[in-house]
Amino acid sequence: MLGKFSSGAINRATTEFSILTQMDSCLFCRIANHEVPSDILYEDDSIMAFRDISPQAPVHFLVIPKKHIDNIMEIEESDKELLGNMLFHAQKIAKTEGCEEKGARFVLNCKTDGGQTVNHLHLHVLGKRMLYWPPG
Ligand code: AMP
Ligand code: ZN
Repeated sequence: MLGKFSSGAINRATTEFSILTQMDSCLFCRIANHEVPSDILYEDDSIMAFRDISPQAPVHFLVIPKKHIDNIMEIEESDKELLGNMLFHAQKIAKTEGCEEKGARFVLNCKTDGGQTVNHLHLHVLGKRMLYWPPG
């Protein structure tokens, strides 16, 4: 039966199936699709920003790409504009949230050593309190 299909078609179908499965099970994909409610600060076709559910500072929001990317190690050359859009809106929202004068922290946690707990790329922005360095 499979003989009717080229290996390219089978690979494409397999990839599409695994992307669909991922979107179903990934919390931030579900937030991006409005299947899980969030306190949205900004969204466009490619990104969304929403408040962190467990804020670690008076201002704490996340900026995510709407398409699923596991973490910063997985980005590709074609994602450069997407990443620029995330950073641009992160700083715009940080300013709107009153962080321009004193600044804020812009953080990308990656995998186990980076302390990443949700495996969908997200940029944290924390502000309105003094944060220390080095992190724990
Ligand atoms: P990280 O540890 O870098 O992977 O960060 C994941 C962040 O997602 C944490 O700061 C969580 O508080 C936050 N988070 C988890 N679930 C939700 C949710 N449903 N809405 C908003 N933020 C969330
Ligand atoms: Zn996802």
